[in-house]
Amino acid sequence: MLRHSAKPASSPLPSAVTVIEVIQRSAEFLARKGVDSPRLQAELLLAQVLKLPRMQLYLDFQRQLTPAEADHLRELIQRRGRREPLQHILGTTCFCGLEMAVNRHVLVPRPETELLAEAGWEFLRQLTPGDSGPRAVLDFGTGSGCLAVTLAVKCPDVHVTATDVSPDALAVAAQNAARHGVSDRIEFRESDGFAALPAGANFDLILSNPPYIPTLEIDTLQPEVRDFDPRAALDGGPDGLKFHRLLAGQATAFLAAGGRLMLELGDGQAAAVRESFEAENWIVEAIRPDYNQRLRIMIARRD
Ligand code: GLN
Repeated sequence: MLRHSAKPASSPLPSAVTVIEVIQRSAEFLARKGVDSPRLQAELLLAQVLKLPRMQLYLDFQRQLTPAEADHLRELIQRRGRREPLQHILGTTCFCGLEMAVNRHVLVPRPETELLAEAGWEFLRQLTPGDSGPRAVLDFGTGSGCLAVTLAVKCPDVHVTATDVSPDALAVAAQNAARHGVSDRIEFRESDGFAALPAGANFDLILSNPPYIPTLEIDTLQPEVRDFDPRAALDGGPDGLKFHRLLAGQATAFLAAGGRLMLELGDGQAAAVRESFEAENWIVEAIRPDYNQRLRIMIARRD
């Protein structure tokens, strides 16, 4: 008679295992599911389960997992195998050295967006203090709030307005502001485009990482992005440039004299984005490369 296996055939783990075994088996399972950097991912999930820093795993290779730990890890590895992003499973990600809560309501912040944050705080830090109160920043489409919160942390004398069309995203952003102690300097507003900003609102810096994937390309992206980032945070319309055009046309009214508009854009969009801004009489000061030498961050001004 055939013996029944205690676990379903698709299970990545047997029940009694050591740290080293569990890492190897989980990594093999994730590799079969097409996950990038499977061993690193397995280690990070195990570190989460054992509540240890990842490096500590290396000092404890022969430690045996308890059944509860093995069950917990199995569940997380199964989720990652279904291509749920690591950041959703952990519930956080790191942005500019700050821990940010993330979930399915917000875009997972990307490393290249850190370059946008950095360009923003470099600009703000060289401004002299405003005559009429603190310098004002607008984070247009704040998502997780990563840009708004980082700028508020790095520049303790600025006031940030952060908009998003999604109330669920704003709830995550507000949680991140509280986590980093900057809630009193960020005003969150539910807004479709500029609609909910008061007429006459004026900002020294307008930052945005708007959705910029062409609609039909979304289904070609990796499952972590395609199935788990909110569509509304990705979809930039037929050519991906819907929000860049909206900003080119409408941001002028909200930019203070001497102010800057800083935007992220997609690979291959630099020429078209420059053209839409120049057509609306913006001066494109720079389009900076990301870590892969692709032009991704545009800095523009009016005067
Ligand atoms: N501003 C957020 C980020 O940079 C959200 C961007 C978005 O949803 N497109 O991650």
